[in-house]
Amino acid sequence: MVKAIINANIVLERGIIWDGAILISESRISDIQEAENKDISKADEIIDAKGAYVGPGFIDIHVHGGNGYLLFKEPLKAADFFLMHGTTSILAAPYYGLDYEALLEAFKTIKSAMVQSKNIKGIYCEGPYINPNYGAESDLNPWRTPIDENRFKALVDEAGTAVKVWTIAPEREGLFPFLSYARTVNPNVIFALGHSDATPEQIHALGKYKPKLLTHAMCATGRRAVPRGTRGYGPDEYCLNQPEMYAELISDSCGIHVNPTLQQVLLKAKGISRMVLISDSFVQNEQLPPPHLAHIHDLNFDYTGALDGSRLTLNVACRNIMRHTNCGIAQTFIMASTNPAHLLGMDDEIGSIEIGKIADLVFTDDKFNIHKVMLGGDLYSF
Ligand SMILES: [Zn+2]
Repeated sequence: MVKAIINANIVLERGIIWDGAILISESRISDIQEAENKDISKADEIIDAKGAYVGPGFIDIHVHGGNGYLLFKEPLKAADFFLMHGTTSILAAPYYGLDYEALLEAFKTIKSAMVQSKNIKGIYCEGPYINPNYGAESDLNPWRTPIDENRFKALVDEAGTAVKVWTIAPEREGLFPFLSYARTVNPNVIFALGHSDATPEQIHALGKYKPKLLTHAMCATGRRAVPRGTRGYGPDEYCLNQPEMYAELISDSCGIHVNPTLQQVLLKAKGISRMVLISDSFVQNEQLPPPHLAHIHDLNFDYTGALDGSRLTLNVACRNIMRHTNCGIAQTFIMASTNPAHLLGMDDEIGSIEIGKIADLVFTDDKFNIHKVMLGGDLYSF
């Protein structure tokens, strides 16, 4: 079975093919054609993109839930919601407010969903060994007690190779046995720096466990001023100064999580190739926003009125970052699809439109309104 997508503005890493065609054989991309040498004679089915941009499906590595469904409780319903918004790969994120038993249960729930779902690819574990002074609902964080080997071994064993990322705060005492065990169980696991006020020296001291990723840059991080009265520095400054390190960004519509000026600074320092757009979306709860922020619809709040993730989907984050930083469509797809695939080591299968890769595609206009999504060669229209 060969499908041909025609009338498509195909978004590649190197730029856009205008009015091109993509052939799909079974679940994979089998040809990419320019306008002048199009040949769709072998196609069994024609899909008319009607002039839409067709880019690689979004990969959201840091998302807790959306549309009323938590990814660690009702993962399939939540993943379907995000699929409608173009997210063809998800790392499901539990929450550091979960206690030991609840976190074990969350891992089990997500792992069984991974067997049934085509777009849940793993777990992103934000914590539990972060600095409990940073983040929403921080006073309810149950992980303030010293790091306990019996507990972390059970957690790491349950998570197995499904967990792709652990977010850590280097200043936590007794962290090294956890890092070593997590790396032994999953040699490819990524340590992310986040919910932390570690100094660059503390981060350097992690040695071979040094973080490859900064969890939601410029959010829930602290800075220490040494000596007092000088400008503090911490995880954000460390990341800005490490060319190989990836930075997650939550780009909401009004730049509340990260001010547009800081989004521009981050993009300049990291370059397009080290930025990873995330939604950090949380379940929409009953909590009313503070009145002065009530007009902004892509934010989420905890019971104290503090920011608690977002209500973003990645297509909206793409629209927002284009407005905040003036980047183009092809660059935006690199930050929402290509870079997360590289980071996770999944770039031989997903993350860009190339012959041989899985046909995970989004059909969008220039404002990132999603018209169709293809997941593993299967088309969903909205
Ligand atoms: Zn967080």
